[in-house]
Formats: sequence, structure tokens, C-alpha cells
Amino acid sequence: MKKRIKIVDALRGEQVGQPVTVMGWVRSFRNNQFIALNDGSCFGSLQIVVDIDKLGLETAKRLTAGAAISVDGLLIASQGKGQTVEVTAQQLEILGDCPADEYPLQLKNRPSLEYLREIAHLRFRTNTFGAIFRVRHALSFAIHQFYNQRGFVCMHSPIITGSDAEGAGEMFRVTTLPLDKLPKTADGKVDFKQDFFEKSTHLTVSGQLEAELAALALGQVYTFGPTFRAENSNTSRHLAEFWMIEPEVAFADLTDNMNLAEDMLKYVIEYALTHCREDLDFLNQRFAEEDKSKPVAERAEMGLLEKLQFCLKEPFQRLTYTEAIEILKNSTPNKKGKFKYPIKAWGADLQSEHERYLVEKHFKKPVILTDYPMEIKAFYMRQNNDGKTVAAMDILFPGIGEIIGGSQREERLEKLKQRMLDMHIPIEEMQWFLDTRRFGSCPHAGFGLGFERLILFITGMTNIRDVIPFPRFPGSATF
Ligand code: ATP
Ligand code: MN
Repeated sequence: MKKRIKIVDALRGEQVGQPVTVMGWVRSFRNNQFIALNDGSCFGSLQIVVDIDKLGLETAKRLTAGAAISVDGLLIASQGKGQTVEVTAQQLEILGDCPADEYPLQLKNRPSLEYLREIAHLRFRTNTFGAIFRVRHALSFAIHQFYNQRGFVCMHSPIITGSDAEGAGEMFRVTTLPLDKLPKTADGKVDFKQDFFEKSTHLTVSGQLEAELAALALGQVYTFGPTFRAENSNTSRHLAEFWMIEPEVAFADLTDNMNLAEDMLKYVIEYALTHCREDLDFLNQRFAEEDKSKPVAERAEMGLLEKLQFCLKEPFQRLTYTEAIEILKNSTPNKKGKFKYPIKAWGADLQSEHERYLVEKHFKKPVILTDYPMEIKAFYMRQNNDGKTVAAMDILFPGIGEIIGGSQREERLEKLKQRMLDMHIPIEEMQWFLDTRRFGSCPHAGFGLGFERLILFITGMTNIRDVIPFPRFPGSATF
């Protein structure tokens, strides 16, 4: 194909005065003269000025929103307001028509996010989703860059797992057995010996256990991959398939873990602010418009950009679960019976309403809660000396709630084994995991960051289904 210049480069204006070829999709065509052309390389569109007499009415009619075109012309400094450069078309070719009467994305009636979710195969073409998915890309890149700069090894943990002991959520089974004719063993159970892997397997809920194995040799590793949870939670913060970043570090304790998490979050927020300015400006405006349509009491205290900048300035608030429980117990909503789950005593699991109270009302900034009761946390978390808490940490963000969950890991073999026995975790199947504690065990720590929750926060979107291209949730796996 002819060599084209991307619109992002054309808009920089360095090639003013030169002939260029641009290709893209028509956003709008007005006054029979001005085409707004977008090729996805950036938020902005390039103005193409056409001469209707040269173009002919037949072709002009085909310049509908969504049509793909190729334009040869001269890049010039623009006379009009609203753009610095434009292209005067010398030759225009329609590469793909887009029939206006059938195309669901007409500019006139701004489609709702719910509707766009149903046509997720087309929603990339809207301003909003273009911005979101460019930001998503930038964040993914920034995360790899952050860890690479610090000498971490990116470790690809398996997606199909033979261990179902993590307890992080309900799992999806993986099998090639015929569902209508399951082979049975003598005692009537499904005979997984006849399955593909000759055992029962699932999609992973977390890459952490495998990351620990690697960290105890490579020192610092991270995983960045898809994870799957068959939790039937139809919320705006849960997906059945989501991406998780899980660093794991040897010779590190809970404080090191908190520092790493805070540094990483600030690094990627900063990265987005510097590299995604145009997209974030648009999302900021979008956020403000959405906010205006809400009742006054529910409106955000800060705009999107303001909120992101604020997060960079302040150290996150660090406190223990025990301290948080005291604050919650004495809080006005608790005393007035406003919490759906009133906080009565130490040991209660914190619900989203409590997390949001701490972050949004009490501290008004990101919060790191540590040292949770052992009973409400996973088996691998390091037991504190008090005999009742573990060295866990959750990072809570405004509007999101939990964005990161992590801990220092229990590196002492006997303590770990005892905890697994107490929690009925099949020790025999987990020998590979326990081997790390048998052979050169050392203090180590790590956490899991839900990638989509991070994108939610940075884009100011409110439903997690709008920040992943093709969301999977109960009742839905279209596309
Ligand atoms: P939650 O209480 O919100 O369900 P969790 O305690 O189950 O979270 P972890 O098992 O600690 O979460 O997982 C680590 C991170 O993965 C969470 O902090 C969150 O950012 C993200 N996460 C967990 N479950 C989901 C999900 N279903 N969809 C999207 N992200 C998720
Ligand atoms: Mn969960």
C-alpha cells in the first residue's frame, strides 16, 4: 500500500508544506467541505478540506461517518479556528463505505455506555473508547517499564493450573472430557485420569504461587497475565476474566512491599499524566459532565485530573486493620446505623462501604491497611507475633475500594504447614510450593494489582466492563 503518514504525526505540523497521504475513518463531513478524519493514532482528528466540484456529488455522499478513506493532499497551516494544520485534498479514495442508515454509531445521538457494551465490536470507534484503550495500552507499557527499570524479571505464570488450593475465588474448570458421557471411577466419581492432563485442571485465579517459586531464585519477578474467577458477583468492579500484575520479591518485608506498591502506582499515574494528556483531558471533561448529572450529594470532590495529581503529591495513609476498626466503630454512619454491615467488633471483614468510608470520607486519600485478622486472609500470609493477625496489606483507592491485595509471605515451613492443615488445604498436592520453604527459604513479599481497577481509577470510568475490550461476566461471553 501507499505509504501514509499517521494523523498523530501530521498534527505535529513538522511536515507542513509537504504532500502527504493520510488514511482513516470519517468522523464527520460538514458544509460539503470539511472532513474530520481519525485513524486512531491519537484522540484528535485531522481536518481535510475538499473541493466539492472536483470531488463530485456521488463521492461526497459516501463520506458518511465511519467510512474509510485515503487522501492525498498538501499539509498546510490551517486558516480556520480549532486546528493548527489541515490537508487540502488533491485525490480522495473511498476504501470502505459505511451506510449511514445501518451504522449504529451516529454522531447525533450519543449512545449510552450500556448500549455500547452490546456493540463492543464497534465501540473502539468512539472518542471515549478510543481514549480508554490508548490509556490501557500506555498503562500496560508503563508497568513493564517500571519493573524493567528496577531489574524485575517478567514471569509468565501458567493459565491452566493443576492446583486449586489458592482459594482466591471460584474457578473455571478446564476439561476435554465429554460432558454428556463422563467417564466414572469404580466409586462413581468423575475419572479425571482419562482427561487431557490426566488430572482435574482449572483456569488460574492468580499467578502468585508460581511467582513465589521464581522469586526465590530470580530475586524479583512479576507476572502480568489474565486471571479467571467464576464469582457470581454482578458488580461494577468484578470481571470473570481480568488481568493482574503480581510482583514477588525475595528478601523483602511488608514495609518494602508497601513501598513498592506505592511507588508503582505513582509511577504509572505520572506516566499516564505525561503520555496520555490528550486522552485524559477528554476523559476529564467526560467525568465532569457525568458528575454534573448526579445529585449534589453524590458529586466528586475533585475532577479527574485533579484527583490523579493529588494522589501523586500525598503519601498514602498507612494504618493497621485494628486502627481502622476503631475509626469505623466510632464513625457517624456506624453510630447512625447507616452501614449495611454495621461494625460491631474486631475480626469483621471489611465491606466495600467501609473501605470507601475510610478513603473517601475519613482520610480523603489512598489508604494502605495492614495486619488483618488471620481468619479472614489466605493461608500463605505471614503470621504476626500477636498470634492473631497476618502481615497483609490492602490498598484502597477512592471510588474503587480495593485496588491491591498483598502480603509478606509465611516463609517458615512449620508455621505454613500448620496453617494449611488448619485450613484443610491438601498438603500432599502442594509439595512443590512447600519446597521453597524447605530449600533456602527466606523472607519475601508480593501483591496483586487488578489491572482493570487501575484503569478505572485513571480513566474515571465507573464500570469495569468499560475498560476491557470484551468483558466477561455472569451471563455474558459475546465476541
Ligand atoms: P475483592 O474483595 O474486591 O473481590 P479480592 O480480595 O478477591 O478482591 P485479591 O484476591 O486480593 O482480590 O486479588 C488481587 C486484586 O485483583 C484485587 O485487589 C483487585 O484489584 C483485583 N481483582 C480481584 N477480583 C477481581 C475481579 N473479579 N475482577 C477484577 N479485578 C479483580
Ligand atoms: Mn474477590
